[in-house]
Amino acid sequence: MLTYILITLFTFFMMELVTWATHKYAMHGFMWFFHEDHHQVKPGFFEKNDFFFLIFAIPSWLCIMLGLMHQYYFVVSIGVGIAMYGVAYFFVHDVFIHQRFKWFRNSDNVYLRALRKAHKVHHKHLNKEDGECFGMLWVPTKYYKEAKRAVDSK
Ligand SMILES: [Zn+2]
Ligand SMILES: [Zn+2]
Ligand SMILES: [Zn+2]
Repeated sequence: MLTYILITLFTFFMMELVTWATHKYAMHGFMWFFHEDHHQVKPGFFEKNDFFFLIFAIPSWLCIMLGLMHQYYFVVSIGVGIAMYGVAYFFVHDVFIHQRFKWFRNSDNVYLRALRKAHKVHHKHLNKEDGECFGMLWVPTKYYKEAKRAVDSK
């Protein structure tokens, strides 16, 4: 059981790396067409960028389904890890940062504040070429320190 939990956690952290790489090299590269509206206009409720949810949904669904069918439980664990990351990504990126739903808007949590700042910096760039902060859950220390100072001085 512990092995499966570790595989799930490991997959979760690997997904941050996958997301970072996909965001930096695919979304801000040859797949910019799907990501452009996320950096520029805000059209309706849905964005072309939502297409990237398939990156989480399809592999995790396949891993869980095929793993269960063939009783390869480590594959199921990988699928669960991907799904958990997808859910975390949705809450952090779409709900918390971009406020697509008006939930937990104000937070004094240092990590959450740092994370939001880092992604806002990413969004300052309107074009695909230059950019920074392509990760999602991993926050560069400078934003962490900044947020800590802001919360401490309250
Ligand atoms: Zn981007
Ligand atoms: Zn964003
Ligand atoms: Zn983005």
